[in-house]
Amino acid sequence: MTTLDVDVAVIGAGTAGLSARREVEKAGKRSVLIEAGHYGTTCAREGCMPSKLLIAAADAKHAVDGASRFGVRVEAARVDGAAVLARVKSERDRFVGQVVRSTERVPAEERLRGSARFLDRTTLLVGEDTRVRARAVVIASGSSPWVPPPFDVIREHVEVSADVFEWRALPRTLAVVGTGIVALELGQALHRLGVETVFFNPFDELGPFTSPPLQRAARSLYARELELHLGITETSARVVQGGVRIGWVEDGAHHERTFERVLVAAGRRSNLAALDLAKTGLPLDAQGKPPWDRRTCQCGDSPIFMAGDVIGRRQLLHEASDEGHIAGANAACFPEVTAHVRRAGLSIAFTDPQIAIVGRSFAELPHAEIATGEVSYEDQGRARLMGANAGLVELYAERASCRILGAEMLGPSVEHLAHLVAWAVQRGMTVQDCLSMPFYHPTLEEGLRTALIALAKKLDVVGGCRAEDLPDECPGM
Ligand SMILES: Cc1cc2nc3c(=O)[nH]c(=O)nc-3n(C[C@H](O)[C@H](O)[C@H](O)COP(=O)(O)OP(=O)(O)OC[C@H]3O[C@@H](n4cnc5c(N)ncnc54)[C@H](O)[C@@H]3O)c2cc1C
Repeated sequence: MTTLDVDVAVIGAGTAGLSARREVEKAGKRSVLIEAGHYGTTCAREGCMPSKLLIAAADAKHAVDGASRFGVRVEAARVDGAAVLARVKSERDRFVGQVVRSTERVPAEERLRGSARFLDRTTLLVGEDTRVRARAVVIASGSSPWVPPPFDVIREHVEVSADVFEWRALPRTLAVVGTGIVALELGQALHRLGVETVFFNPFDELGPFTSPPLQRAARSLYARELELHLGITETSARVVQGGVRIGWVEDGAHHERTFERVLVAAGRRSNLAALDLAKTGLPLDAQGKPPWDRRTCQCGDSPIFMAGDVIGRRQLLHEASDEGHIAGANAACFPEVTAHVRRAGLSIAFTDPQIAIVGRSFAELPHAEIATGEVSYEDQGRARLMGANAGLVELYAERASCRILGAEMLGPSVEHLAHLVAWAVQRGMTVQDCLSMPFYHPTLEEGLRTALIALAKKLDVVGGCRAEDLPDECPGM
């Protein structure tokens, strides 16, 4: 048994773990970075980057398919599935290569390969024969796809998101289990690339929306393009010749269909089980999670910190990176711990129309204390020009202060509008502050202005003027 003494042990060489390690290095302390799997991070290897590469291919096909509406005639496009997947893989491998090289620049004696588990609060066993004694530990072990019943019993015959990026050919038919962000992003892209794709969900929800009008709008918009089976019961799955046969009950009727492949995208679970957290003496909740503070990333008052997907809160790249920095800096200075200001919430799905939740979602807000301003993108000027006029945005402001608190967004390119709103939320801007900013014409941002004006009217304020003094709207705003 080899024993290693360090200031900070970091479990997981993903985005959060790498950020944490950098902070320990900056503080001049000694760290060890422990990785059980491959270097390269979930984001680059099987998350953000390959999924957006697949979406980029689907966007190209969709643009060609939709060109005739502008009077541009194109011969029917043919998708070369093998070429699409080869580009996804080769670009993905480029991104992964960059991360692997930067991880391997960490001195070899500061890296360990193997699965880590706790022997006590600050001692870890890595693999079978290395013990690490640390003054503090950062857990950045990420998350893994969850495969629910009945698909768990035929686990080796169903696939998860990471498997898609290893395909060499597109399947003819695909069942997607789940209608969350990963399911919608990958499922819609594959559908647009010509795969006959069908979505299943025992729940009625689609995407991350918590506002009832946004949920309704999303269901109706995506149902125009995608085959959705929501609120299904009695789901069964069995392996048959040529794929998996799925059975389900919908509106009282039993259905069965065979799919060449099944993609299970039903959410991700924290990688905690292998860590043996019980040995730390920390109190654990029903899911085996210790108490955790979002501003310090500390677990209780212990020398243990957590960062990234493993927390199971906002499983997003920038959150993992921020938490890694906070956890690493605090672990390096433990027992001195600093509370950090967190950024406004910002979550985006690269579906079409795009989805975004900014600041606090509708469900997280005290409804009696907020006003809602909305804009439909069905008739918004720029959206119409682009032939992308679909969607709904709700902006939430606090009645007492007129401060913007959050938004739920469904519409063309809302990734950009979402950033504007997130910046407004974080800066504590009021409806009046936002309306005093410039809006170019004709842009999608003018839709945001329409929602702000609706809010101003409800709050009866506009930068010291009364609502009726608002400037006239140009057509299509
Ligand atoms: C399909 C998909 C698309 C996504 N798209 C986006 C997007 O567009 N934008 C966005 O912001 N986010 C996106 N995400 C989420 C984003 O990828 C994650 O939030 C982020 O990568 C999490 O980083 P992390 O450091 O917490 O975990 P990871 O990068 O997963 O790192 C955790 C590491 O810990 C290791 N590990 C686990 N257990 C142990 C152990 N016991 N001992 C040692 N090592 C261990 C694992 O092997 C892994 O390498 C997407 C995710 C998926 C799956």
